[in-house]
This record gives sequence, structure tokens and C-alpha cells, in this order.
Amino acid sequence: MEEGKNPNKRSFIVYYVIIIAVMLVFNVLVYPALMRSQIQQVDYGTFLNDVAAGKVTQVEVQETQIAFKATGEDGKEQIFVTGKMEDPELTKRLYEKGTIKFDKVIPKENSPIVNFILSWILPLAAFFLIGQLIMRQMQKRMGGNAMAFGKSNAKIYVKAETGKTFADVAGQDEAKEALAEIVDYLHHPEKYAAIGANLPKGALLVGPPGTGKTLLAQAVAGEANVPFFSISGSEFVEMFVGMGAAKVRDLFKQAADKAPCIVFIDEVDTIGKKRDGGITGGNDEREQTLNQLLTEMDGFDGKKGVVILAATNRPESLDPALLRPGRFDRRVPVELPDLAGREAVLRVHAKNIKMEQNIDFNAIARATSGASGAELANIVNEAALRAVRMGRASVSQSDLEESVEVVIAGYQRKNAVISEREKKIVAYHEIGHALVAAMQNHSAPVHKITIIPRTSGALGYTMQVEEDEHVLMSREEAFDKIVTLTGGRSAEEIVFHSVTTGASNDIEQATKIARAMVTRYGMSENFDMVAMETVNNQYLGGDTSLACAEGTAQKIDAEVNDMIQKAHEKARSILKENEEKLHELAAYLLEKETISGEEFMQILQA
Ligand code: ADP
Ligand code: ZN
Repeated sequence: MEEGKNPNKRSFIVYYVIIIAVMLVFNVLVYPALMRSQIQQVDYGTFLNDVAAGKVTQVEVQETQIAFKATGEDGKEQIFVTGKMEDPELTKRLYEKGTIKFDKVIPKENSPIVNFILSWILPLAAFFLIGQLIMRQMQKRMGGNAMAFGKSNAKIYVKAETGKTFADVAGQDEAKEALAEIVDYLHHPEKYAAIGANLPKGALLVGPPGTGKTLLAQAVAGEANVPFFSISGSEFVEMFVGMGAAKVRDLFKQAADKAPCIVFIDEVDTIGKKRDGGITGGNDEREQTLNQLLTEMDGFDGKKGVVILAATNRPESLDPALLRPGRFDRRVPVELPDLAGREAVLRVHAKNIKMEQNIDFNAIARATSGASGAELANIVNEAALRAVRMGRASVSQSDLEESVEVVIAGYQRKNAVISEREKKIVAYHEIGHALVAAMQNHSAPVHKITIIPRTSGALGYTMQVEEDEHVLMSREEAFDKIVTLTGGRSAEEIVFHSVTTGASNDIEQATKIARAMVTRYGMSENFDMVAMETVNNQYLGGDTSLACAEGTAQKIDAEVNDMIQKAHEKARSILKENEEKLHELAAYLLEKETISGEEFMQILQA
């Protein structure tokens, strides 16, 4: 439908342009030329003179003018016109001449039918045509069928096969297990029907962006070998009340025709937001769309084999009605991959890429704690691009390592100009972090330190790699993390006796950890296990909202400040104790610009 529109529109325009051009040519050039050669306008006096002189042979009195034939100066007969004037004597004079043929045109009476057509049918038809044109224009502009509420132009992709299977999804074993049941159901619905079981109509995939929710849904369709309908929640958001609902209706009608099949609704939170009491009247359109979705989910027969998968990264904002049994009653968490998961994702994506032998995927996985599947896929691709840039035929370990940094910190800014003094400050700052980290039992050893500036604005950074992943963090570990974060600023203070803005990111992170320790983890001395902050959307940055009395908030701030002060003090004393090593390491880093964890440890232990 979309495609049919354009050629249509074009031919319309071309047609108009041609007609207008032809009319212009006629009006401006041809018509006047024709007229000029035949009819000439003269004043009434000339007409009377010509009559008197006997030049006039024929006269025709029309309603507003008089046309007459006369011999002109060149002796040829020509047609002239002149304005009609009050001249009762004219007839007499013309008659007396004797040689002039003259008459008056009898006004033609239109037939009543023609009159009716001219005064009624034609204007109506014109209005109708204009209306049609305007409507078509409106539809085009809105991309929708503004007037046809019953139908929708929902962009629905029907693919017989997505081409994806569970093998394409690395890690996410729990999610795959939960979805395997749906695959089995689509394969053997009779097995479930025989026992009378109703399978869940829908499953909600919940997790941070880029963890493979879409991929999983496609894999379910691929595994079950059924059509895959995919639509994003935002596509239901329409200008007119009722249109989103119409789209939902349409989608389910199409899905029912193609059953068994999978309907995948991405970003379902855009339509499934909690409906509020709404003194303001709320958002009628969204509410209707949601209601329609609920109705459709209730309405269709689960035994038919339409399974609805939906994805969201803000499950807490979903309307509870969506989550009740019979709707999205299955909730499948799709979390960020752990160490093994990250390694698996890297391997899956490395399969399609020429790699050198003996690539240590584990090392890369350890360096990318917290990365999503999408980011890992991106890292592998960046590595391949780098290999091409370097003119190599396959991807090496160093390509992967560099691309980790590209994805984390941006590209190297090769020609960034940084003064020697600033470089020195950055070197001390980074060594400060690394040294403090290495001197604390609970801190992870450093993997790499660099002072090559990045496009992200980072002037250098210390990369820490956990030996093995752990999901719990003890109070000591959390505190040591804060100490490490303050290590950079502490080194600046000790060596340069001044501070720079370079620590702003450290400060932000340290504050975040300290605050969480006090308000959420019950790790402070003055408060017990009291939650004073709640996380709003854990999958999207995880901003928090405070829920406590004003006085408590003050105490929290004091506590946070206290904790960071203690950490800062500890970092300073660690560095003071090891000031010699600090200078030695910083000098080495200044010279090399990038040093590995091993080099660092060698110098430290020398
Ligand atoms: P989401 O829908 O959760 O935001 P996607 O499914 O769109 O994420 O994932 C984006 C891309 O990231 C996928 O196309 C795939 O290349 C990659 N990816 C994410 N998770 C995985 C995984 N577990 N295994 C393999 N590739 C993954
Ligand atoms: Zn720092």
C-alpha cells in the first residue's frame, strides 16, 4: 500500500503540471495572437464615421458590444468591436445606408436541465472533488488512514522464518528454558489440549536494553517454525483516539489468520503504562489502546496457537491488568550476561568472523563486566573493523582488547594536544587509583592503565578486571571501592598539592556507592536495615527516589560524607606509605602511555 502511493502521487502532479503549462501557453501566446489578427477594438466615433463613410458592410449588435465588418486602411475587410452606447438613432442610420446587413443577437435561453446542471450539479461535483483531494493530502501527511477508523495500516512483518534459533542466543539459559515450553506447545498443541491445560497466552521478557529480548522472541519463532509478527509498542501510539485500538484489533485478526504464530510487541510499556485515576482526563488514546489489547488477549482462544511475547525494560511501569493470569502471566527475566554468558556471546558473534587461533575470549569477557549482549556484539564487530583498518586478514587478541576500550571509552584521540604538566597529572591520578586498588586486599587487581586520551573525553583510565565474578558485595569491598575511587584525587593532592576537575567522575561514582550503602544496603553505623531509597527503574540507569523524613535525609547526607571522608583518608595514607612506588610507576606510565597489569605488578613488587 505504501508503495502504491508514490507513483500515483507523481503521475497526479505530472498531469497537473502539463495541463497548466498547456493552458499558460494558450493564454499567453496563442490565443491573443489569434484574436489580434481578427478582431480590433475601436472607439464609437470611429464606428460612426465608418458607417457614415460607407465602409461598414455588416453590423451585429450584441449584449454589451457592437461587432462590425468594415474595410480597413489596407482595403481588406476586417472585424472590429466597439462598446455599445445609448444610441436610439443607430438603427435608423444603418437602415438608411441600405447596404449594411445588421441585426441583434437573440439571447439564447439555456434549457432548464442545463441550467440545473450548471448551477447545482457542477458546483457540488467541484466541492466533492476538492474534498477528495484534501482528504487524500491529509492521509498522506499523517501516514494513516484518517477517516477509515475501522482499518489500520499497521506495519506488520510476516516472515515465515526468522532464521534465528536458540543457538544464536548465547547464555540466557533460564530464559531459553522458560521459552522452550512455548516452543513445544507450538509444536504439539494437541498434547496440551488432551490434558486440558491452558498454556500461557503471553510471556513478558524483562531486562535491560540490548540483552537479546528481541533475539529470543525471534528464536522462539524460529525454533517452533511459525510466522513471526513483530510490532513496536510505539507504533500503536496514534494521534486520534481509537486508532491505536484499531491497530491492535487488526494485528490480532491477522495473527489469528496465521495461527499458530508468535506476536512480538517490543517496548510494550509505551502502551501498557499504568492507567492513573486521571483527574486530568489522562490519555484517552493510550488507555483505549491498552483496553483493546487486554480485550484481545482475553478474547482469543489460547488453543489456537497465538503466543504473544512482549519485551520491556521498565516492568514496574506496566499496568497490573496486563500482568494478571491469562495475559502476560509468564515473566521471563533477561538479565545482563555473567562472565560465562559474556564469553558465550563473544564466541557466538566471533563465529562469523575470521579469528586468529588461540583467542582468549575469557580475558575479554572478564574485562567487560556489565556489558550487554548488544555491546559485546559491537565489540566483536569493532575488532573486525580494526583488523581491516590494519590491513590484516583475521582478528587478533589485541584487536579485541582495543575494541573493548573503544566501546567503553571511545576512540583514541591520536592528535589531542595535552601539555606535559597535564599529562603528568593524569599519570599520577591513574597510578593513584591502581596503587590504592592493588594495596587493598579486597580490590581487584588492575588489568591495564593508559593515559591516551579518548574521544569520550576521558584523559586516561585504569581498567580493573575481576578474577571471577561475584554477585554479592561485602561492606568491606564496597568501602574499598570507594577508597580506590578516591585514590586518583589523593595522588594529585600528595604530589601537586592541588586538585583538578579530573576526578569528577570518580566523585560521582563514589557518592553513588556510599549513598546506596547507607540508604539501600543497610551498611551504615547509624541506620539499621531500613530502606530509605527505592530504585525506580532498575534496568534503565536505576535512578532512585528518597522516601524518608527531612531530618533523616540530613543524617544520610552526613553519613555519606563521613564515609567518603574516611575512604579519602585511607587512600591518602596508602599512597603516602608507598610514595616512592607512586613516583616510579607514574614515571614509567608517562614514558609508556599504556602499561599492562603485569608490568604494573612487576614494578610494584620489585
Ligand atoms: P533487546 O531486544 O533486549 O534490546 P536485542 O535482542 O535487540 O536486544 O539485541 C541486540 C543485538 O545484540 C542482537 O541482535 C544480537 O546481535 C546481540 N545480542 C544480545 N544478546 C545476545 C545473546 N544473548 N546472544 C547473542 N547475541 C546477543
Ligand atoms: Zn579517576
